[in-house]
Amino acid sequence: MSNGIPELKVENLVVHYRTEDGLVRAVNDVSFEVQRGATMGLVGETGAGKTTTALAMMRLIPSPPGEMVSGRILFAGKDIMEYSEKEMDKVRGDTVSMVFQDPMTSLNPVLTVGEQIAEVIMLHQHLSREEARRKTCEMLELVGIPGARAEEYPHQFSGGMKQRVVIAIALACNPQILIADEPTTALDVTIQAQVLEMMRGLKKQFSTAMILITHDLGVVADICDMVAIMYAGRIIEYGTLADIFDDFKHPYTEGLFGSLPNLQKRHEKLKPIKGLMPDPCSLPEGCYFHPRCKYATDACRKIRPERTYLSENHYVECLAYQEGSGVTLGEEASHE
Ligand code: SF4
Repeated sequence: MSNGIPELKVENLVVHYRTEDGLVRAVNDVSFEVQRGATMGLVGETGAGKTTTALAMMRLIPSPPGEMVSGRILFAGKDIMEYSEKEMDKVRGDTVSMVFQDPMTSLNPVLTVGEQIAEVIMLHQHLSREEARRKTCEMLELVGIPGARAEEYPHQFSGGMKQRVVIAIALACNPQILIADEPTTALDVTIQAQVLEMMRGLKKQFSTAMILITHDLGVVADICDMVAIMYAGRIIEYGTLADIFDDFKHPYTEGLFGSLPNLQKRHEKLKPIKGLMPDPCSLPEGCYFHPRCKYATDACRKIRPERTYLSENHYVECLAYQEGSGVTLGEEASHE
């Protein structure tokens, strides 16, 4: 948006699932925003709440057992939590699209790829069959596939090509927001690079706001402007690419990146950190990261850190940055 309103804004989002094992606190007070033409990387270990956050943005949390307990999700300033299901059907595809990790779960094996792209176009854009067919070929060409291949079925395409088709479907109605959940994880490295290159081009061409969910720091460094580090359903550090890669503050981010911050680490995967993410059915008191944090003190075990802004765009949730907490990252606290 040229009026300064972010294309996407999430405020204090809380999502729970009611299961036989108890209440799963999947997303716990998440806030961020993405400007038009910008890409935010949502990074974290499996189970951090990344995909649940993405599904919430599509209003696709299955209910029951899921429940969007509180928070607001604003697309260009409009709160989609207030939309009816019918309005949401239009928003999905028109305004926001999602690309999932495995292209085969998104493609119908018995329809040609052309039919699948045209279906989305006709549903959202009220074009004639002929116009939809022309637009379908354009979309395929846009993602680097000859338009003539519209007549082929998904099984006739390689993995990378299938993911391109999925992206073509997601972009068919020129959405303002694209959410991509591990879009390149299932692909080999060369194809990964091609798909990323293509996404970068599309972002430039259409100024789409993108959210990229990934484990891969190389992908983040290549394509993202902003980065949100997620842990146990919270964003524990958020900032520009440079803030997170060159000037990270949270001990968890430090753990993920290793001890030497450096953009040259762009080709590395997340580093495994000792210990496990807490069970979302019984999150610890205080800082959720304290059982794994080498700096944890008694205060960390009791007090939940607040969001502390270090600059306009860089925030961290760690007591060491909260005035008067007495917690410092200078020396490793002894663990009992
Ligand atoms: Fe570690 Fe304490 Fe900061 Fe949590 S609040 S990240 S336990 S130092």
